[in-house]
Amino acid sequence: MIPLNQRLKQVSQYIKGDTLADIGSDHAYLPLYALEQNLIQRAIAGEVIEGPYKSSQRNVANYHATHEIDVRLGDGLTVVQPEDQVSTITICGMGGPLIAKILTEGQAKLASQPRLVLQSNIQTKTLRQCLQQLNYRIVSEDILEEKGHIYEIVVADYATTPMTLSETEAMFGPYLMKDKTDLFYKKWEHEQQALLKIKQNLDPTRHKERLQQINHQLTLIDEVIRNENQ
Ligand code: SAM
Repeated sequence: MIPLNQRLKQVSQYIKGDTLADIGSDHAYLPLYALEQNLIQRAIAGEVIEGPYKSSQRNVANYHATHEIDVRLGDGLTVVQPEDQVSTITICGMGGPLIAKILTEGQAKLASQPRLVLQSNIQTKTLRQCLQQLNYRIVSEDILEEKGHIYEIVVADYATTPMTLSETEAMFGPYLMKDKTDLFYKKWEHEQQALLKIKQNLDPTRHKERLQQINHQLTLIDEVIRNENQ
């Protein structure tokens, strides 16, 4: 049995098709688990740093999966080739801006229109806005807590009609803000407290712009967590 945390197990539920590319695959556990569970037939495990790449290679060899899982060293989507015909790309355990950068820089590698399953740790707004620019439509979202951290999962499919997100939807997630689970409130109340703390330490004359940004974010959070119907 492949040891996989709850966060990545939840990500695995959204994998579609035969071929997975897991980008930032420091141990290759997600591709190994997906293969073990018969969710996929083959995978590419991409990693930019030598150490984690070697660890992925070792794990794939230890689980006798070298025929099915190709571990590749490279930056972002550069490891994906057109002939791979990937059906799902997972990018997990990173901040929203880094995931967005990987997708934008690797846009040409999305030609086979794979499903994207993205799990960001922070600033998912940037990621959702990037999906909109790439002509992807969010089809599902999830929020979970593990070891004291709250994570968001965004699932997106290529769309012929572009998705249009309001600023509020981009920040809170179009599906997550409809459901408003206890965890959703916990996340945003926590963000609210963090922003209020930052605000206390800012000088209104020297940090005018940052203060405006924070006040704007606080207003949006307040609206969303107070308004049950939004
Ligand atoms: N995906 C795993 C998970 O969710 O547990 C690993 C997360 S780990 C925090 C992030 C991994 O992504 C690291 O191993 C890092 O080296 C790799 N990484 C960061 N930027 C990358 C990039 N541009 N291309 C490929 N891998 C990257």
